[in-house]
Amino acid sequence: YAAKVTGGRQLHYDAGLDAKATEHAELGADLRTGLDESQFFMVYQPIVALPDGETVAVEALVRWQHPLRGLVNPVDFIPVAEHNGLIVELGAWILRESCTRMASWRATLGERAPQRVSVNASARQLSEPDFAGTVAAVLADTGLPPRCLVIEVTETAVFDSDTALGTLRAIKALGVRIALDDFGTGHSSLGLLQTAPVDILKVDKSFIDHVGTPSRQAVIARALIDVSNHLELTAIAEGVETAAQAEELYRLGYRFVQGYHFGRPAPDLAISDSQHQLAA
Ligand code: C2E
Ligand code: MG
Ligand code: MG
Ligand code: MG
Repeated sequence: YAAKVTGGRQLHYDAGLDAKATEHAELGADLRTGLDESQFFMVYQPIVALPDGETVAVEALVRWQHPLRGLVNPVDFIPVAEHNGLIVELGAWILRESCTRMASWRATLGERAPQRVSVNASARQLSEPDFAGTVAAVLADTGLPPRCLVIEVTETAVFDSDTALGTLRAIKALGVRIALDDFGTGHSSLGLLQTAPVDILKVDKSFIDHVGTPSRQAVIARALIDVSNHLELTAIAEGVETAAQAEELYRLGYRFVQGYHFGRPAPDLAISDSQHQLAA
């Protein structure tokens, strides 16, 4: 492989890495067209209250219907969009689309609409000088009350940007809530709770997977509900896949859960049924 041979010495060639770089470049080029040709759409996953199983909120998750690759998942293209900066435009579209949808559910479903929509924001968006201004403009344009919006950020995204804390404070000042996503997987999870204006902790699936087993992860899941209660934060358990997990989480004190057991992300609201109520 000519490009990898220097001075007659064969350098280590990693075909997997090379394919990844190529895919990264191709997806990056396709993102622009994707935005122009409306290839993105949102799906919504219920966040439910225990023990009654009522959908109190939904998390908005983006999908890409690529003309050649088919459905592409965000883990494969969000990092690419972050890298080339298109996340700012894509993120603004995601926010507007999600708020428009939430406003329309409120109009059509009234009391039966979820109370909030939770929208993910990436590191690059947080370091935009006027991200809070974008949020304010979208709320004004869609007529969605600020209390009906949650912005989800990861600890890593907050740490990666010097301006993130200021941005979060400005968003919170609008009356929008802030959730720390994938909580416990970043660098200084507990440290961040001293400085960041956080309302909601989303406890990462990697801890929730182990509840009910003798494990360090289960101990941490138990400790985090205490931390949340004492700091007056709302804890949400992420990635709940079984009824047994839900029972155990309820026993530990979790009152809000999200995961395939309660509903997968879908293009429309699945009106919650009672089959996910915990047995009394
Ligand atoms: P996240 O924000 O932590 O979202 C939760 C992810 O876990 C979603 O994957 C969801 O489909 C998945 N999930 C939910 N319940 C379960 C479960 O019970 N089991 C399993 N195995 N998975 C579950 P998804 O939609 O593929 O998104 C992956 C990540 O991509 C998100 O993690 C978020 O970091 C990012 N992402 C998704 N949509 C957006 C977006 O609109 N904007 C930005 N900036 N990032 C997004
Ligand atoms: Mg999230
Ligand atoms: Mg999450
Ligand atoms: Mg997660």
